[in-house]
Amino acid sequence: MCSHKNFSALLNRPNSYAQSHTYGLKSQDDRLQEECGVFGIFGHQDASAITALGLHALQHRGQEAAGIVSFDGVHFQGERRMGLVGDNFNNQNIINRLSGNSAVGHVRYSTTGDTVLRNVQPLFAEHSRGGFAVCHNGNLTNAHTLRSELVADGAIFQSTSDTEVLLHLFARSKKREFIERFTEAVLQIEGAFALTCLTNKKLIGVRDPLGIRPLLLGKLGDAYVLASETCAFDIVGATYIREIENGEIIVITDEGVESYHPFKKSEPRPCIFEYIYFARPDSIVGGKSVYEVRKRMGEQLAIESPADADVIIPIPDSGVPAAIGYAQKSGIPFELGIIRNHYVGRTFIEPEQRIRQLGVKLKHSANRSMVEGKSVVLIDDSIVRGTTSVKLVSMMFEAGARQVHMRISSPPITNPDYYGIDTPDKENLLAANYDIEGMRKYMNADSLAFISVNGIYRAMGHEGRNNNSPQYTDHCFTGDYPTLLTDKHSEEEPHLSLLAEVL
Ligand code: AMP
Repeated sequence: MCSHKNFSALLNRPNSYAQSHTYGLKSQDDRLQEECGVFGIFGHQDASAITALGLHALQHRGQEAAGIVSFDGVHFQGERRMGLVGDNFNNQNIINRLSGNSAVGHVRYSTTGDTVLRNVQPLFAEHSRGGFAVCHNGNLTNAHTLRSELVADGAIFQSTSDTEVLLHLFARSKKREFIERFTEAVLQIEGAFALTCLTNKKLIGVRDPLGIRPLLLGKLGDAYVLASETCAFDIVGATYIREIENGEIIVITDEGVESYHPFKKSEPRPCIFEYIYFARPDSIVGGKSVYEVRKRMGEQLAIESPADADVIIPIPDSGVPAAIGYAQKSGIPFELGIIRNHYVGRTFIEPEQRIRQLGVKLKHSANRSMVEGKSVVLIDDSIVRGTTSVKLVSMMFEAGARQVHMRISSPPITNPDYYGIDTPDKENLLAANYDIEGMRKYMNADSLAFISVNGIYRAMGHEGRNNNSPQYTDHCFTGDYPTLLTDKHSEEEPHLSLLAEVL
């Protein structure tokens, strides 16, 4: 078993990485999929403090762990912690220790099982030309296959994160120039990746060929900033410049910004779920206000599936913008008939179904005076396992509702995600197992309706889905996976088997 008690001995080495935590190996490990947020800054004297603030704004993208790596001209410093950014990076001593003018940071949210510290990013490695830190939002769909090949060739992995293959591929490249080495590595990975990487001279941003996960470029004074969402620019007062394009690598140095397009050119297909649930409503994604898009989804839902009701009630917080849109379009009053306790994390944080159900009860309560004796329309952005809907329909009846009509501002989720969003396997996706009437009965609602696939594209400002060249990655509803799923189709066991002998 590999157990590094203390990394402080490395502190005095050039380009070394200070890791103040012990790696914890456990037999139960996490799956590959993660939801994450990434950040990077180059050329600012308060690089790590700004990174901590940026990560705080991206906290909704991952609440289980956070980390920052900075470079001070001689040394890399790193801090990776379990828990919230505000609880871990609120200490001036930590920020002071993360010295330097450049930094990258990551917030992480694993899907199931334990999150172990060795999987918390930024991942860092010393290779033949110095240190290299990487932060990844997304999921590599050929990580297991690549990892098996690398392990067979003698590579020793320190984590079970899919991202680590990139470090190995980069370190093993025989090319001379940095960009050639880096490009050779990223050309081998498949799936969804928005990356921020730091070397002793460069901040690098990369978006996969379809641009599935978001990544943006901004400026703060003379410094350049990279982040998953514009809300991370807003918190530090950075100016949004542009999105990193699909398939683009940008390299930021003292000389400025260089852009490379090494991938085969393809039309962008950003993930539609960023608009539905994942991104913060005040963010601008793909030039569109997430809040406005969500409201339009509610309007479209009201057009497609009206309901005879007294009141529109959002499931907070995720259903609020769509419920406002639905209420405005239908002319039915909007009321906060469910109050959310903000001191409980997102329902999905709890890995076990039993705890997850308890989490729903802890999280929401009925605002009886807005519900009693009324026919209510409950609005949420999505149904995954159905846990939330079942609980809240019953909560509405317990609070005296006469009728409960459920309306969902995304189409039924019938297929799991492999690109970095937490979704269960098909057998646990409600819509993969029941038709709409079956789901309605399951949640005991008077009626149930989802927005149509073309309807959601309309809400996004299109005439409908272009089936020949779809504008978004929308496999959750359509089953149309836009990349190779090499690992899924490989016959080998998941990557954990590689660890079996070590544990
Ligand atoms: P469920 O209760 O399993 O049907 O999940 C649906 C609820 O979870 C909705 O209120 C969504 O806003 C929320 N949700 C949807 N997708 C995700 C996700 N990937 N991670 C966390 N929560 C989600």
